[in-house]
Amino acid sequence: MDLDSIRQQFPALQQQVNDHPLIYLDNAATSQKPEVVINAVERFYRYQNANVHRGAHQLSEQATSAFEAARTTVQQFINAASEQEIIWTRGTTEGINLIAQSYARPQLKPGDEILLTELEHHANIVPWQIVAEQTGALIRVVPINDNGDLNLQRFSALLNDKTRIVSLTHISNALGTINPVAGLVRQAKAFGAIVIIDGAQAAPHLEIDVQRLGCDFYLFSGHKLFAPTGIGVLFGRKTLLETMPPWQAGGEMIKRVSFSGTTYNDLPFKFEAGTPNISGALGLAEAIRFLTALDRKALAHHERALMNRAVELCSAIPGFSRIGNPTACASILSFQLSSHHQQDIGLMLDQQGIALRTGHHCAMPLMERLGLPGTVRASFCFYNTMEEVERFARVLEQISLGRSFAVAETVSEQSIF
Ligand code: PMP
Repeated sequence: MDLDSIRQQFPALQQQVNDHPLIYLDNAATSQKPEVVINAVERFYRYQNANVHRGAHQLSEQATSAFEAARTTVQQFINAASEQEIIWTRGTTEGINLIAQSYARPQLKPGDEILLTELEHHANIVPWQIVAEQTGALIRVVPINDNGDLNLQRFSALLNDKTRIVSLTHISNALGTINPVAGLVRQAKAFGAIVIIDGAQAAPHLEIDVQRLGCDFYLFSGHKLFAPTGIGVLFGRKTLLETMPPWQAGGEMIKRVSFSGTTYNDLPFKFEAGTPNISGALGLAEAIRFLTALDRKALAHHERALMNRAVELCSAIPGFSRIGNPTACASILSFQLSSHHQQDIGLMLDQQGIALRTGHHCAMPLMERLGLPGTVRASFCFYNTMEEVERFARVLEQISLGRSFAVAETVSEQSIF
């Protein structure tokens, strides 16, 4: 793996922040974008800009075929059986809301159960609370073990004949926990439940095969996968999507409109009301081509090595405590330092050009379960280097030793090492 040449393709990684080379460890929030993605978006607006599916002119025809080819790229990326199973969304959040309102709301009756887990992002909690209120369905929550793993016995025990929906994350954005989703899907399907997987964190790190997973719905966001913001994907099994009513209505999602009635369009357009994010879809297809042209096994191996090194170095820092399972987790290191509040750690790292996230990570119920106000979260990507991880750990150690970096003033690299 030629890390230098990979890094060269990400312009944002080349900059200085607070007079230090940027060390970007906030990849779970959003990833940086490679040149090819930036160029695809620029090319669209410079030369290809036209609306899709409706123009009588060449630009529109070209935009439409590029847009639909992007859908095929996504279909192949997650091994969906048909392009009709790929619905463009704004992101994971919109996808879950679509399922909650279009699939769940008409189906659920009072007393039906929706099974979630303590690991969920708010995007996989609040849409279900709304639909539970609308229908009288009940939310059940699978607890975690103290180490941050899902309690698999409790998962099995909570499944029952009233379980209509199981919606869970593939990888926790707060702790990095990887759920054994294929087995969980099988168990839930045995009770006739519909299974939804929030793949926001998994799509950038794991190879996703929705047919092998056997889930009914799978969601992810382009922006965590090296693509622009505002584009995402909802995979849904065709037989289910066909039975679902449209969620949003307007242009594109219809075949014929009259005041006496409207005929809806075929899949996937039935769920794509209004002008879509065309440049975003082209950017996402380009990001997928970029990623799949690399050796993904080598990328995963490198990310694991970064994570192992970070854990090794940070564990030796006085007052460092890791939150989450040390063995089974993706490229996320969630932690606290006993000496400092998490927000102060974030600010001091930022002064040193190190970007990461602090707080509840949109997982307040998880923080409550762990009895924590929040954590510091370093999240790694294949474009991070071992040197970056080592510098991050050195700065963290300095912080723990009481070497505070004044927030308002810039500290030169030499003054630390
Ligand atoms: N689920 C998980 C696990 C996430 O990490 C995120 C993004 N932090 C979301 C859902 C929501 O994604 P988006 O904001 O892109 O819709």
